[in-house]
Amino acid sequence: MKRISLMVLLALFLVVIVGMSAGVAFYWHYIGTLIERDATANVIAETSETAENFRRAVEADQRVVDTIALTVQASYPWNETEKLERFLHLQVKYNEFENLGIIPLSDENAMLARPDSLDESWQKDVLIRALDQDTFVSARQQDPTSNKSVFVQAASLHDGMTPVGALFALIPTERYRAALTLSSLGDNSNALVIARDGTVETSGRTVPFDNVYTVLERAGFVKGHSLARLRMHIEQGEKVFMRYQLDGQYRLLYGEALPINDWYLLAVLPTDFIQEQTQRVAWITFGLFMFIFLLFGALGLYMLGLRSYSNRQLFNTAFVDPLTGSDNLNRMTVLFSRRLQALNNHAALVIFDMLKFKVINDMLGFERGNLVLKRASHIFREKLMPNEFVCRNFADNFVLLLAFEDRHELRARLTKLLSLIRRDCTSIDSCVMVDGVFGVYEITQEVPFYMAMDRAHLALENAKRTPKEFIQFYDEKERLRIVQERQLENAMEQALADGSFVLMLQPKYDFQTGKMEGAEALVRWNHNGRGVVRPDDFIPLFERNGFILKLDMFILEQVAKHLAKWQQEGKRQVPIAVNFSRLHLNDSRYIPQMTHIVDNYKVPHHLVEVELTESVILSNRELAQNVVRGLHNKGFSVAMDDFGSGYSSLNVLKSLQFDTIKLDKEFISGCEQQNSTARKVVRGAVEMIKSIDATVVAEGVETEEQMKFLREIGCDLAQGYYFSRPVTVEDFEKLLK
Ligand code: C2E
Ligand code: CA
Ligand code: CA
Repeated sequence: MKRISLMVLLALFLVVIVGMSAGVAFYWHYIGTLIERDATANVIAETSETAENFRRAVEADQRVVDTIALTVQASYPWNETEKLERFLHLQVKYNEFENLGIIPLSDENAMLARPDSLDESWQKDVLIRALDQDTFVSARQQDPTSNKSVFVQAASLHDGMTPVGALFALIPTERYRAALTLSSLGDNSNALVIARDGTVETSGRTVPFDNVYTVLERAGFVKGHSLARLRMHIEQGEKVFMRYQLDGQYRLLYGEALPINDWYLLAVLPTDFIQEQTQRVAWITFGLFMFIFLLFGALGLYMLGLRSYSNRQLFNTAFVDPLTGSDNLNRMTVLFSRRLQALNNHAALVIFDMLKFKVINDMLGFERGNLVLKRASHIFREKLMPNEFVCRNFADNFVLLLAFEDRHELRARLTKLLSLIRRDCTSIDSCVMVDGVFGVYEITQEVPFYMAMDRAHLALENAKRTPKEFIQFYDEKERLRIVQERQLENAMEQALADGSFVLMLQPKYDFQTGKMEGAEALVRWNHNGRGVVRPDDFIPLFERNGFILKLDMFILEQVAKHLAKWQQEGKRQVPIAVNFSRLHLNDSRYIPQMTHIVDNYKVPHHLVEVELTESVILSNRELAQNVVRGLHNKGFSVAMDDFGSGYSSLNVLKSLQFDTIKLDKEFISGCEQQNSTARKVVRGAVEMIKSIDATVVAEGVETEEQMKFLREIGCDLAQGYYFSRPVTVEDFEKLLK
């Protein structure tokens, strides 16, 4: 998904770039033509204006010449030569002419502002033209005195109707330079005033040629026009507009006719100017585009960043454990099957649980506790191999998926991990003693995650129960046992209510007389799904969950009920022994409750015997002593069950006043063989028990040999299959008779 969306994004980006480039190119071109068109119009307008300016400037000079002519005409017949010459001189200075002079029609000499030898034929030519045209402007001339380029402007002089001469002024051609600049068209532009034969009369800038055609000839091809055509247009006074190339540079040429002397105004400018302008606009546009693009790009990136940030946040909330930064169980749920496949379906799912982590938290504070979890998480992660996985499930509980070779290797690895964690955490604080257990499920084929978790969990529970072994492997039998236990646990309350727990009685016989002298109450569970369930399958469970407290009292009540019934029916009554779990010893209500039940049925206390197992008595002798004393005070007799199954100390027998000692069936199991050590031990034990005046009951008597031997050494009562199995109350009543 991520890769696809990235591709799409990239493609989109490319499309945008291409689109924008095309847009910019198109815009560039469009702007270019627009600017060129605009520039062209500009050139035409500017040139026309320049033509007008030039015309005005020339006419203004002509008017000055005309005005001077009027003054000169008034002073005819020009007797005061000196005065006139001074006037002319002043006018030259004042009007910045090159020279000013009067050429009389008579043979008199010309009067000049700047006296010099002006060629007589030249004077005659000017005179004739002035008289002919009244006023005229000449083509460019060379001032014979100063050698400057000048225009000759002349006006005819009359005395009344009679022509008397001409006034002429020499005006430097440079004078029109200002009028001919095309300043707004760039520094490299120029305006030229030419005659129709191409001779340059004057120009805005000095040009290094006399005739434009010679230059244009050099340019060779004039775009779209041959030189001849251009010439024809100019000669006919038509407007021209074209482009040409000269010295590798494109130029624009525009011309229109001037109303003076058939002159023609040509504006020439390099197209660079237009290109520059186009480029400037294009660059500005491009810059603007780039700015907008970058702005959008930045905005897009920011939004992407924001999105990926929020995605990351979401991911973290869903898949990352905030405390340790490692993955959490959700992540493992998602990745489990893929990782398992990568490990060839051969792996170990391991649950690690710290022991007494609460103590660390309580004693050293949460901060230390958290640090311990972080270190542990870090070590687990650091030691992972490819495709392995670790996550923190909750609190001090970690789940690992590890490659699996064999149990030996895994055991070594887990041991190493635990010792690393332990060492690392001790370095935080010498008081931190981390300990933990591992539950391992060996995976050998594809399994769903929840099942693997369940099984590793069972192994973990097992590890917690077995203090000596901190690594436990999942065992199918163990699972079945636990499943069964759960079923029993779910059904026990209901079973008690509907009478599924049944009392059985196993008679005890007097070795000497063979008479039945008592019985032991044993419970059976008539489970409606599973038939009769033996106590060994549920008593340990009920001791763990506390239900045994209720069940024992229920059995006691059954016993009391039957004892009361036998009494009412006038039947024989024998003492019945009831088994009581170790759990009652810690319960202060035990003796009062028991007394209450027995009294409820008005059963004499000496008919009820309490059986406590040897292991209970050994584990808390003082408590046991109090209870035994309390029971004696109420008149109940007390038996020590399973003597010889554990580490019975004979001292116990002395300190606790048992009425009866029951020899465990294991204890007497070897005594059927003649001369065996077992016989000697049993004989010794019986002798000693007799010495403290306790009754000896031999349990689990199965054979005649056993019976004979036990009778011989002085055991008082026998209980075992040899005599009778535990029987129903009904059957027991028959035996009583
Ligand atoms: P226990 O108190 O040692 O009970 C004697 C067990 O030995 C009984 O097993 C009985 O059936 C069996 N037994 C008797 N004679 C022989 C024999 O000749 N050979 C062999 N192999 N076994 C013999 P059961 O009834 O299965 O009870 C097992 C244990 O469950 C009892 O051992 C007792 O510790 C406990 N238990 C039974 N009923 C109760 C009860 O109501 N409350 C408590 N707290 N525990 C009970
Ligand atoms: Ca017993
Ligand atoms: Ca026993």
